[in-house]
Amino acid sequence: MKNIFLIKYGEIAIKGNNRYLFENALLKNIRLSIKALGNFHIQKEQGRILIEPEDEYIDTDEVLSKLTKVFGIVGICVGIKNEKVDMDSIKETALYHMQSVCGNNQYTFKVESRRSNKNFPLNSMEISKEVGAYILANMEDQLKVDVHNPEIKLNIELRNSLYVYSKVIPGPGGMPLGTNGKAMLLLSGGIDSPVAGWMVAKRGVEIGGVYFESPPYTSERAKQKVIDLAKKIAAYTGRFKLYIVPFTDIQMEIYQKCPHQQLTIIMRRIMMRIAEKIAKEENAQALITGESVGQVASQTIQSLAVTNAVVTLPVFRPLIGFDKEDIVSIAKKIDTYEISILPYEDCCTIFVPRHPETKPKLEYIQKSEEALTDIENMIEEAIKNSETVIVH
Ligand code: ATP
Ligand code: MG
Repeated sequence: MKNIFLIKYGEIAIKGNNRYLFENALLKNIRLSIKALGNFHIQKEQGRILIEPEDEYIDTDEVLSKLTKVFGIVGICVGIKNEKVDMDSIKETALYHMQSVCGNNQYTFKVESRRSNKNFPLNSMEISKEVGAYILANMEDQLKVDVHNPEIKLNIELRNSLYVYSKVIPGPGGMPLGTNGKAMLLLSGGIDSPVAGWMVAKRGVEIGGVYFESPPYTSERAKQKVIDLAKKIAAYTGRFKLYIVPFTDIQMEIYQKCPHQQLTIIMRRIMMRIAEKIAKEENAQALITGESVGQVASQTIQSLAVTNAVVTLPVFRPLIGFDKEDIVSIAKKIDTYEISILPYEDCCTIFVPRHPETKPKLEYIQKSEEALTDIENMIEEAIKNSETVIVH
């Protein structure tokens, strides 16, 4: 008998001819995610992935903590594999598993069996019945049968080997990372952008980040906060390359030369231009922001349109229709919330105009931007002086 993990994946199973590409990507991502925890034999097996630890001892909780962050996984079953597939072995394995799952607690349960070997002397129903009776006889103080709504569903699968498992731990779902191109996330220290990046990554898109800092108005702590957020995303993506772009000179320039009620929108347009240039250098095909329509002055539909007009790459705004509460609940789930609410200044709050324009018109904004005569050089300079950090 051997502890194993059975991985269920949903959506990728229906991708027709591309299916093997997605499965291979998932297999590779699973391998990378648990590599540091021991030696594992990982293989595809009839529509799922089987992970067999090769070491004597492995930390199941640690493995689960990694696997629950691999996009594409729908469910993880912790179970037992036994190479013997006779009725006595089935009963013993099932009992052993139930004893370890139940501890000293009381539960209702039912047995469900499946067999791919149709030559087995008993059919699925008969197997379930016999195994159920055997378990009950040995654990009668603890267990009761409930076929409609059991607390524990004990699964018995007869393939080339025997597999027994009960609990299915939900995975994050989505698509395997690396199967859907690459995008650059405009990552601030706020609640929204990490969530936006995570959502797009969940669809299989590799992501990197761009953070604009404005020292000395923004501190080292504010920058560290963004790096810490990037680490939380990297827990799902494995690796995250963050560009830290010095933005103070550009902000001062806008502040001095443009009408103050337009500061935010012009600043955001320049952020987009810089992010787009970096995206192209990184061979990324899209940008991602944490904007949500109506949330603040710079996120009215008019502002979003004017911001959008300055770039040609598609801009993904996965939170566009989300309420703050919905965003917060994802931020908590992916563990970015506590970092995001740390009270360090961000570059946008420093140069915020008192009466920001909420319905900017593109032609007026472009007109105002004509005063920024040196902006092309400043943009090149900012990119040249940016620092890159790779987090894992
Ligand atoms: P967040 O919670 O993500 O900070 P927000 O609600 O504060 O968003 P804004 O400040 O208007 O909204 O920013 C909108 C989006 O612009 C952010 O979600 C992020 O994608 C990007 N952004 C804002 N400030 C920065 C920055 N300093 N560096 C990189 N991207 C930024
Ligand atoms: Mg913000």
